[in-house]
Amino acid sequence: MAKVVLDAGHGGSDPGAVYEGRQEKDDNLALALAVGEILENNGVDVEYTRTTDVYHTPFEKAQMGNRTDADYFVSIHRNALPTPNTGTGVETLVYNDEGIKADMARAINANLAELGFANRGVIERPNLVVLRRTRMPALLVEAGFIDNEADNAKFDSQFDEIARAIADGILETLNTQAAAEAAVQPAADPVTELEINPALENTEEENSESPQYQAGESQMQMRRGPYISQDPLYRVQVGAFENQQLAERLSYRLQMSGYPAFVLYQSPYYKVQVGAYRYLDNAVLMERRLRMDGYETFLVSQ
Ligand SMILES: [Zn+2]
Repeated sequence: MAKVVLDAGHGGSDPGAVYEGRQEKDDNLALALAVGEILENNGVDVEYTRTTDVYHTPFEKAQMGNRTDADYFVSIHRNALPTPNTGTGVETLVYNDEGIKADMARAINANLAELGFANRGVIERPNLVVLRRTRMPALLVEAGFIDNEADNAKFDSQFDEIARAIADGILETLNTQAAAEAAVQPAADPVTELEINPALENTEEENSESPQYQAGESQMQMRRGPYISQDPLYRVQVGAFENQQLAERLSYRLQMSGYPAFVLYQSPYYKVQVGAYRYLDNAVLMERRLRMDGYETFLVSQ
């Protein structure tokens, strides 16, 4: 079952945008709960970062999402500009305009536009914490401007339709993805995955910066194949997914941050792991670094 984290933006001591006493955090929560109800009625497993008026930092919100191992993280907000009544319409923010999250963002925007909102498009915001620090495809929906009278009137009079439009955008993308996956052959041989993985190239760089990682050694071990070797090897696991694409995505992100990450298939999971270390201490050092970067990790051996 697909799992989606819904994040009602802001909360508690952080009202978000405020316009004539109307607080963004309240609109966000009401809409997130309404979207979640529709998703649940359609067989989606839904988790929320909040269901009440409480404050969490964006980093905590991302961490909460990561702990669920959900397939998607959807943050619900309303927009505002420094001068009220100058902005109108909907937009959806993503880390970068690529892949399934961008497809989902477009589907949501298109559905909301059908209700009469101006479609401001999909916008890249790589520095937003809930988009940057979440491990799964993440998007942030700006459901109209809270500082625009017309957008607010539409938000209030068509609230159910707006929730439906966002939920449908999510469901359409989930269904398309499920259909695509059903058509794909599963499960590459794990040793092949290791051999072809470009992460092996990164180990050199790790090695020169941090000799204590002994990444050169791990590189040799990995090429020999950890399943054949009798030596215990320690690796840092950052995630496990039934969905190969999600695993590849996380692995790619780790590689882009300089980590020697790779995907290992152990039925039924695609496991995203970093490094292969003969010495536990080196694996612990790597784990500490990953945790400082906001990843949830645990150590695996052999
Ligand atoms: Zn907001």
